Amino acid sequence: MPDCLFCAIVAGEVPATQVLESDRTLAFRDINPQAPTHVLVITKEHHPDVAALALAGGGLLDELLVQAHEVARKEGVGDSGYRVVFNTGSNAGQTVPHVHAHVLGGRPLSWPPG
Ligand code: AMP
Ligand code: ZN
Repeated sequence: MPDCLFCAIVAGEVPATQVLESDRTLAFRDINPQAPTHVLVITKEHHPDVAALALAGGGLLDELLVQAHEVARKEGVGDSGYRVVFNTGSNAGQTVPHVHAHVLGGRPLSWPPG
């Protein structure tokens, strides 16, 4: 997708600190971390948000979530607990229209979210 920041990261045109990669997904550190662990897990294929990804089928959403848990385990927060967030749309604060799971952990996370 032209002019998509995360497609540019997948293409290697924008640098990112990679944490994990699978055939169809990529995980890299958020540039503005909100917790000691803050990793974004994306699909290499462009989907605008998690709803579109769910509708696309093919097991890709499952794979994204498996990778999110693998990131948490690798970062050492799999047992202490972590949060997986898909901001969807403007009221939720989605700023990049390419599906991404935020994996947040390494500190107690408050609830409800702001
Ligand atoms: P959201 O606001 O849910 O769409 O999340 C987008 C996230 O992408 C934010 O947490 C940003 O800090 C993060 N972000 C923006 N640009 C980059 C980048 N070049 N590398 C890594 N993370 C980024
Ligand atoms: Zn994209």
